[in-house]
Amino acid sequence: MATAAMRRFIISVDDPGGLIRDISLFQRTREFFDAQGVPASFMVVPRGEDGWLLDEDEQWLEACRSAESAGHDCQLHGLQHWHCEFGPYPAMIRAIHGPDPDEELRNDTREYGHWWHHEAYVEKLTTAIGIYERAFGRRPTVFRTGALSQTPELYDAMAEVGLRYASNSVIDPRGWEYIVGNYENPGDWDPDVPPLPHHLNAEVINLPIMSEYAWELTEEVIPRHLALAVEDMERIFALGGPFVLCCHVQCVGAQDGLSRKLLATLFDIAQGEYGVTFETIAQLAEDVESGLVSVTNCPEGG
Ligand SMILES: [Zn+2]
Repeated sequence: MATAAMRRFIISVDDPGGLIRDISLFQRTREFFDAQGVPASFMVVPRGEDGWLLDEDEQWLEACRSAESAGHDCQLHGLQHWHCEFGPYPAMIRAIHGPDPDEELRNDTREYGHWWHHEAYVEKLTTAIGIYERAFGRRPTVFRTGALSQTPELYDAMAEVGLRYASNSVIDPRGWEYIVGNYENPGDWDPDVPPLPHHLNAEVINLPIMSEYAWELTEEVIPRHLALAVEDMERIFALGGPFVLCCHVQCVGAQDGLSRKLLATLFDIAQGEYGVTFETIAQLAEDVESGLVSVTNCPEGG
């Protein structure tokens, strides 16, 4: 039986499908997780450029279904993962895009701000869910937007379409600070992100992401990224929470193998020193449903 002391390690892998259509990256990623004996949660983009749709691509459907039959999980990642489709990008994402994050926010708001409202979100979510349903024969359990674009209205829209689990905020932005080379003064956990699963409104529960440690690595930086991951894992387990890690298929599946090297070492430490249980993000949502994992706040007014 699972107990409250169970240390849950969930690894979510973003972008396969509509954003990263090169299926060899997905297959190499999947083979890595198979070999590690670790179930991955693939956050799949249902629509892509040039009219690409997951539910109409036999090769992708077969790849996703085969991964699921081996114990992996496929959940929903945006609609097309482009142009701030569910709101502006958070500051740490904009910092990767260019030297002036404030300028990007102003430009994005001018260009895409007219999309950032309830009706547009409901329409996009309904479209995304429809593609996912035709692909998998079931509704998605967990939703993450492309590059974590969001406004608070998104969560009301999710409630309206019956999507009850988001995984859409980052506890430790230092992983992204490391990506832009800021190792000297990277800050700490975001005080505005509750680190344990929490309600965003009466219906929708957020399963926060701890961080991303395996983006475009070099041999030299691996020890520092790994140390951050271990520190975060220890801190979240001390709070009794699940460790939800985010990585990307274009890095884990890359030829250089550096992301895989970091993750393989992290899995060894997680198992050997922390006795973790690896589970999918859908399983985590199920554990929240059944009360095995508690939710830290209940919104007033139910
Ligand atoms: Zn993404």
